[in-house]
Amino acid sequence: MLTDYEKAKYNRQIMIPGFGEEGQKKLKRACVFLAGAGGLGSAVATYLVAAGIGTLRIADHDIIEPSNLNRQVLHWDKDVGQKKVDSASRKLRQLNEAVTIEPIAETIASDNVSRMVAGCDIIVDAMDNLPTRYILNKAALEKDIPFVYGAVYGFEGRVMTIIPGKTACLNCLYHGAVPPRGVFPVIGVVPALIGCIQATEVIKYIVSLGELLTNRLLVYDGLSMKFTELHADRDPNCEHCHQVERSGN
Ligand SMILES: [Zn+2]
Repeated sequence: MLTDYEKAKYNRQIMIPGFGEEGQKKLKRACVFLAGAGGLGSAVATYLVAAGIGTLRIADHDIIEPSNLNRQVLHWDKDVGQKKVDSASRKLRQLNEAVTIEPIAETIASDNVSRMVAGCDIIVDAMDNLPTRYILNKAALEKDIPFVYGAVYGFEGRVMTIIPGKTACLNCLYHGAVPPRGVFPVIGVVPALIGCIQATEVIKYIVSLGELLTNRLLVYDGLSMKFTELHADRDPNCEHCHQVERSGN
């Protein structure tokens, strides 16, 4: 059920053909797992919460540092030194009081990821490193939960949506490659844009609208202002996909 206030608040999206009050109710019932409350996470969380998602579960173990503030717009000068999940939860609850925010101040690892994502309808990758992305990718495949990959570097970003057992997964795409870890450059507008594309995918998936970014890696280059699409195929030898098929899922 939607209250009169909710009907008024979400009127402009309810008006979208195919969205309607049914779509809004689907959003209200949905739970999204957001891995990371940084640059991508700030955009994803802000727009999903404003759109009236039912529950947003956010996992991040980091403490806010001054170098985060150029892009992680849910965190402000006064929040430096606080946990990112606490700072994010506080802002998001003010943005939309009806949304349930579930903060998890833990590092995502292979031994806790299953518990973290349990009961969620879709997983959003807002991480800053590939090893954790592979952990999320595996968990998504094992639990049969769609997974929206997003990454940024400098003026560039990339996004792809993964439907377990149906479309190319992150490991099909990168074959387990892991670039060296370290501090990398980012301008804030890029995670804002990529995060909004990820949030768009989440909304479309939940409301069952449009066409998802599956088997297509969308690459954005802000300097030339070009979007390129690379076709991604399921790799028949992908270890992640195989592992899940062997375990009977
Ligand atoms: Zn795969």
